[in-house]
Amino acid sequence: MSKPISYKSASTACIWGGEERSWMDRATQVPVVHSVAFGYEDVDEWQAVALGKAPGHIYGRNTNPTVAAFEEKVRLLEGAEAVTSAATGMGIISSALFGLLKPGDRVVSVKDTYGGTSVLFQEFLPRFGIEAVLCDTVDHEAIEREIAAGCQLVYLETPTNPTAKILDIARLSAAGKQAGAMVVVDNTFATPINQNPLSLGADLVLHSATKFLGGHADALGGVICGARPLVEQIYHFREINGATLHPMAAYFLLRGMKTLALRIERQNANALAVARFLEGHPKVETVHYPGLESHPGHEIAARQMRGFGGMLSFSLKGGDFEDVKRFLPRLKHAHAAANLGAVETTVGPPATTSHVECTAEQRAALGISESLIRYSTGIEDPDDLIADLTQALASL
Ligand SMILES: *Cc1c(COP(=O)(O)O)cnc(C)c1O
Repeated sequence: MSKPISYKSASTACIWGGEERSWMDRATQVPVVHSVAFGYEDVDEWQAVALGKAPGHIYGRNTNPTVAAFEEKVRLLEGAEAVTSAATGMGIISSALFGLLKPGDRVVSVKDTYGGTSVLFQEFLPRFGIEAVLCDTVDHEAIEREIAAGCQLVYLETPTNPTAKILDIARLSAAGKQAGAMVVVDNTFATPINQNPLSLGADLVLHSATKFLGGHADALGGVICGARPLVEQIYHFREINGATLHPMAAYFLLRGMKTLALRIERQNANALAVARFLEGHPKVETVHYPGLESHPGHEIAARQMRGFGGMLSFSLKGGDFEDVKRFLPRLKHAHAAANLGAVETTVGPPATTSHVECTAEQRAALGISESLIRYSTGIEDPDDLIADLTQALASL
């Protein structure tokens, strides 16, 4: 599946990556191939494809041409050797963990991973005799100590959801390497435009493609890239668990990704403008955005990211969940919804989005106050977003 193309710029890879070939009847756009099976008149060729010795497709649960074009685009953007995908972000995360780990293994991660990932660590992995140690997210010394104590897999996510904590990927990847562990990074919030974990020493990088990669909140998907032997192991489990990315979803993601570089550039700028505005607002208690000099992870983020991303969160001064309920409907240029990373600004409290699986006490332990609002900046005009926030805050 990998082709020897390298692009000097991500913008060009967003457009041409995985699409530098002609399709049926000279179509310029990748066709959505709905066919479940791929027929062969020559049994020898069929067998060669089935054994992975020749390129081609056999059955839609395993591979599909539309899905392969999407995967290839992500592979090029992450600078990886190999790639595979799944129906959702959680589909690829669970395929990675269950495909790579075995009973008796130990995982080191942090408390602030995506809610669903945290459920895998706390509820499902232990059922199979796999221990997951969840460290305080920004305590790099503690994470390094746990890694050095012995583990098979280090699982990182940066920036985190929803308080935008920053982990030092190079530092923790080095610690993982030292311990002989695989290092996996959830790069959903940063996107490959802002951050490439493989170039910082990680072994695998994954995305919920549902978010920024697709960018239009109209398709679910997950994708993981890295060294071929690891990706093949994950693919093997994914083809058997059956959480395959649908070709129609792959097409939406592929089309969305053509504007990824453009969108992220705008979202980086919009989020910084909104974060600076909120930081100076008297009704705002705290703003979490790694692009602000006041953010505790700013220095690491500036080192490992090319842009600080479109995600921020803030809490209302002296506010509670009732204030959040009053505030959200007053925003005109923001969907109050569970997703993020789309072209429209989206807002939501962690209690109904990323951390819906947690209790109020668990959220408090993660530093998620009940008046916290997650703000996923879209590509609207930043002045309109700021005017919208101004009127909504004034009405509190
Ligand atoms: C949404 C999200 C996931 C899960 O992705 P789905 O596509 O919803 O399954 C994983 N990690 C992060 C950081 C996310 O934001």
